[in-house]
Formats: sequence, structure tokens, C-alpha cells
Amino acid sequence: MSSDFFVWPIPGYTVISSYFGSRNSPTAGASNYHLGIDIPAPEGTYLYAIDDGIVTFASWGAGGGYTIVLQLTNYENISVSYCHTSPTMFVEYGEYVSKKEIIGMVGPKNVYGINNNPYKDENGNPTNGATTGSHLHFAIKLDGKNVNPLNYYTN
Ligand SMILES: [Zn+2]
Repeated sequence: MSSDFFVWPIPGYTVISSYFGSRNSPTAGASNYHLGIDIPAPEGTYLYAIDDGIVTFASWGAGGGYTIVLQLTNYENISVSYCHTSPTMFVEYGEYVSKKEIIGMVGPKNVYGINNNPYKDENGNPTNGATTGSHLHFAIKLDGKNVNPLNYYTN
């Protein structure tokens, strides 16, 4: 994937297991209208800032699991979310990041130590948000509304 505008968030991984839009929910707590795209990748795969931005969220984000959100600085009306990340992040709230900077990693399916985590797998083990396996859920908001991230990328 390449883009005239943005860096691909997870270089080397371009297979999309779930596209933006209507779908059958894959697991309890996952939406029927998918607000981003899912890109399977092994735990530890690096995640890149798609453009210059400021970190507006870098923490546990319920259904998204561990989540990093960037408000882009070149495009004031665009914010970008990376969900189901590793709890080990390379950025923190309020930090400025540069295009192509590594901000985090794909997280594990299971996470422990979250109080009252309602998300569990088939064995009852707590999961990294509503997820069935290691992947990046990548979302773009334009003027506060989720749009298809692939609109910004060309093959
Ligand atoms: Zn997703």
C-alpha cells in the first residue's frame, strides 16, 4: 500500500481481514458496523505514525483494548486510532510525533491486570478489547466521523 498523503500504519502487512462498513460481529462486543479496518499481524509488529500529529490518547480503551489516538497536525480535521496495541507504547499523551515515527506495537490477544475487563475469549481469559487474535484495528475520523481508511491509500 502506498499513499500520496500518509504512511501505511503497519508496513509489511497489507492483508485486511475485516473491511470498513457492515459486517457480522466476530466476537461479543465487536460492532456490526465496522468503524475501521483490521490488519492481522504478529504481536510486536511496529506501528507507524501515518503523519505528523499529537497523541491525544494512549491507554486502555475498552472495546479497542490498548489504544493510541493521534490528532494530525497537518490536517486539523483528521484523527487516527490504532487499537489492540501492546500495553508497551513508545509515546504518551500530549507528545508530538513525526510522520513515520514508530509509536507502538501490535498487542497480544490476551491482557491481564485490567480491572473489570468485560472482554474474554472462549476460554474465559481476558482479551485486549473485543478481539479474536493479534491484529491492528486502524480507524480514521474526518470531522469527528469515522470514514474508510482505505480512501486515503492506493494500491
Ligand atoms: Zn476492527
